[in-house]
Amino acid sequence: MRLAERYAGRTVLAVGAHADDVELAVGGTLARLRRAGARVVMAVVSLPGDYRQRMDEAEQAAKILGCELRVLMGDATRRIEDLRGYELVAMLDREVKELAPAAMLTHGPSEFHRDHVLVHEACVSSQRLKYFDFFTYHPNFCRPVPVPFHPRAYVDITDTIETKMRAIAAHQSQFKCRGLGIDIYRDIARLNGRMVGVQYAEGLDVGRMLLA
Ligand SMILES: [Zn+2]
Repeated sequence: MRLAERYAGRTVLAVGAHADDVELAVGGTLARLRRAGARVVMAVVSLPGDYRQRMDEAEQAAKILGCELRVLMGDATRRIEDLRGYELVAMLDREVKELAPAAMLTHGPSEFHRDHVLVHEACVSSQRLKYFDFFTYHPNFCRPVPVPFHPRAYVDITDTIETKMRAIAAHQSQFKCRGLGIDIYRDIARLNGRMVGVQYAEGLDVGRMLLA
């Protein structure tokens, strides 16, 4: 089944602990979903650091991808680790109840950043509310670190790789301002593409998926 047939006219919720996480992992997929006629909501839990700058960057990136942006924490400069587990679950529950997503994409369980793991665990809990496809995405980093990840599904992003790279580049505070390049995300997409015989792809692990 093509992506458009599965999600056109439906809502996909992409969740990231921080501004930039969703773009790094599934920016190409989100741009494809938008082109396929899906409503795509990017839910960012927190914006640590310079709030105004990170908000500006997140808004720019969401615009590039054509997605709606939501910031979930009231005081978004706080760390996710400062929240109680049930508070984080309640934030995600609110989004699931309101949006009734057809799919959720979020962090996986193996991440070097504790905030990412906490968001993954809260998203797992939100699956109890209703059925939706549940995917986890590639671990994220600004400086490369070896974190195990085994994709079980791939999205062809050959048509949206440049859009993804522009969305990542919008996060200047995380990359350009630190003298860090973003080419590794093109490399990862190229490698994933080779696994399935296309030029560029993003890898997903499948948590739950209904094959009707
Ligand atoms: Zn992050």
